Order: sequence, then structure tokens, then C-alpha cells
Amino acid sequence: MTPELMPDLRALKADLLAKFECQQSGNCCRREGYVYATTLELQKMAKLLGVSYVEFVDQFVVRQEGWALIASPAHRPGCFVNAQNHCDIYEARPKSCRTYPDWPQIWENHASVLAELAMCPGLKLAFDRVCGTLQT
Ligand code: SF4
Repeated sequence: MTPELMPDLRALKADLLAKFECQQSGNCCRREGYVYATTLELQKMAKLLGVSYVEFVDQFVVRQEGWALIASPAHRPGCFVNAQNHCDIYEARPKSCRTYPDWPQIWENHASVLAELAMCPGLKLAFDRVCGTLQT
């Protein structure tokens, strides 16, 4: 069954998240978005890169309405993704990255899940796995 023909992809959320496996396309890191981080997360990133917290903040962080951003459309849009599609701070990546694709905006409606499936090969793989199970 193709994603387009599914009645409502939100009904498959638990199964899709369970079967999700990152395929390291880098697509989620490269698209336009805002990557927020807490002070503790920034400290972990700095430690991982072997620089002081102050140096890390000076080089990589902007503040917006009180929030610390390590990436935004106007500030480091590629974030920490490298040419091999790996995140250079993967072990210290912020919560928003760790919880992908369990984001409320992705599961808002059928169309939003469909759009994410088109962008993320890991989620598409999960869909194929779940629907393969459904069809047998
Ligand atoms: S911190 Fe790493 S995993 Fe998160 S968006 Fe940036 S490059 Fe991607």
C-alpha cells in the first residue's frame, strides 16, 4: 500500500516510530529549521569538540527570544552535518534531534506525515516495514 492511499498515517504512529531507523540521508539536518539547545546541551557539545563553553557559544550559538540556537535559516543552516551526512556532534546532539521523528508537527495530520515520508528515507523504510507486515 502506498502512503498516499493510507486512510490516516497518524494511526500508524507507534508502529512507524518503533520501526524507524535513521538512514543518514542528512535531509532532516539540512532542511530549513531551528535547532534549539539547552545550556547543558551546549556544554556537552563544547566538551565533545574540545573547546570551552564560551568559545563554543561565540562560534556557534545565536540567541533568539531567550532561546539558544545552533542552527536556523539565517544562522548556520547546515548545522553540524558534514559531507558524509554525519553530525559532527552526534553524541551531544540536542533533545530535538534525539527525538526525531517523534515531533508534534510531523504527526499533526495525514498530509504532514506524508510530507515527512517523502523527505526522510528512514521513515519511508519504517512505512515499508509496517505495511509489509500489514499486507501479509
Ligand atoms: S545537531 Fe546534528 S543531528 Fe541535530 S540538526 Fe544539527 S547536524 Fe543534525
